[in-house]
Amino acid sequence: MANLSFFKSVSDYFDNAAQHLKYPKGLLDQIKVPNSVLSLRFPVKIAGKIEIIEAYRVQHSHHKVPCKGGIRYAMGVNQDEVTALAALMTLKCAIVDVPFGGAKGGIRIDARKYTDQQLQRITRRYTTELIKKKFIGPGIDVPAPDYGTGAKEMAWILDTYTTFNPDQIDAYGCVTGKPVNLGGIRGRTEATGLGVFYGIREFCDQAEDMKALKLNTGLEGKTVVVQGFGNVGYWSAKFFQNAGAIVVGIAEYDGAVYNPKGLDIDALSKHVKASGSITNFAGSKSLPSNAGLEIECDILIPAAIESVIHKENAKNIKAKIIGEAANGPITPAGEKILLKKKIAILPDTFLNAGGVTVSYFEWLKNLSHVRFGRMDKRFYENSTSLMLDTVERITDKKVNKRDRKQIVKGADEIDLVYSGLEETMINAFHEIRETYKRKKTISDLRTAAFVVSIDKIAKSYLSLGIFP
Ligand code: GLU
Repeated sequence: MANLSFFKSVSDYFDNAAQHLKYPKGLLDQIKVPNSVLSLRFPVKIAGKIEIIEAYRVQHSHHKVPCKGGIRYAMGVNQDEVTALAALMTLKCAIVDVPFGGAKGGIRIDARKYTDQQLQRITRRYTTELIKKKFIGPGIDVPAPDYGTGAKEMAWILDTYTTFNPDQIDAYGCVTGKPVNLGGIRGRTEATGLGVFYGIREFCDQAEDMKALKLNTGLEGKTVVVQGFGNVGYWSAKFFQNAGAIVVGIAEYDGAVYNPKGLDIDALSKHVKASGSITNFAGSKSLPSNAGLEIECDILIPAAIESVIHKENAKNIKAKIIGEAANGPITPAGEKILLKKKIAILPDTFLNAGGVTVSYFEWLKNLSHVRFGRMDKRFYENSTSLMLDTVERITDKKVNKRDRKQIVKGADEIDLVYSGLEETMINAFHEIRETYKRKKTISDLRTAAFVVSIDKIAKSYLSLGIFP
């Protein structure tokens, strides 16, 4: 797979979708090309030796600023990959109406080979390079976690940025996915998995679409397989289990586990932490890693990296629905085979947008310098309580205690984040589905999603009214 250009695949999808829209070629080209590319090589002293670190930040689109997108630490990082992922971010932000241009960063390292102290040195040096080149800032470009990074790395980025910009009042908005006690937002950790869940649930609630796939409406009893058991995979699996679906398989890079009666996600997570491997989990059957994708199920969720479903293994996929929690998990050749098999694919640019959506909420929180819910929660509780008292007095009837508690409860930050995300994913799903149904020439949801986002970005450019 390695010699296939990932950005070329994204560009091919783009060109294919653009045919369904009537915009001038020059405008479409401007939407497609990466606007700024930063390629870095910097030295870091590791265990007494100087190591040259290869890193990137690509700002794919400046049609809206700041640019937004994660930073990944992986050996697969290269300029082509980061550019493709940045382009997907542009499309993703447009689909969910998050007012950012797309970006992505990457450092070509195997994070597991470094101590925390070494990782911190690499992260701080990378951030310093971004500051020097003006590639980071709350109004310029706002990184976030991605494959191989999390809240810990975001805290180091924040600390480096604020050290160099002590007078910037909005400095905390320079990065999202931060720990909650450092300006992060409740719900960001599980946001991508929760968005995946809301998106697939909405699809499964469409009786007409489920009938076409010969499936029952709703999630109850549906079988699910998740590939990748990092942050996104874990949370996706957990939300499906909580909703009454049966998670029959989980695959990781070192093996897969299968239990037709369902795996206990939290027990499995404990097992992985204790043993260092997903295999040999009590009550389950261990399989080779790649066999995990081929387990019979209703919903398959690839939640790790790109290109895991390709032309060699696509014919063996037995799922009826594939939900792309990872970015670009299916190659174009693999997709052709899956679509022929009438498998429904919920595309990454829509389905994994939960992360950036909640990042947007975090950025808003940082710029407003106040926690969501702080100003109005108690006010709502007091006035609703007063209203219920009045109703009880007038009707001479009592509302039972449990109902009263629920009706009166004002929203905390986490409640607002969850409902804001749910609203976002449901709206985006229907926008894509309507485009798919309306344009008879569009034969799959990925093309429909690309059409929706290209159309929105083109309109933003045209509203600018100027092409110098
Ligand atoms: N890395 C995530 C993504 O690929 C999140 C990006 C963000 O929050 O900016 O969507």
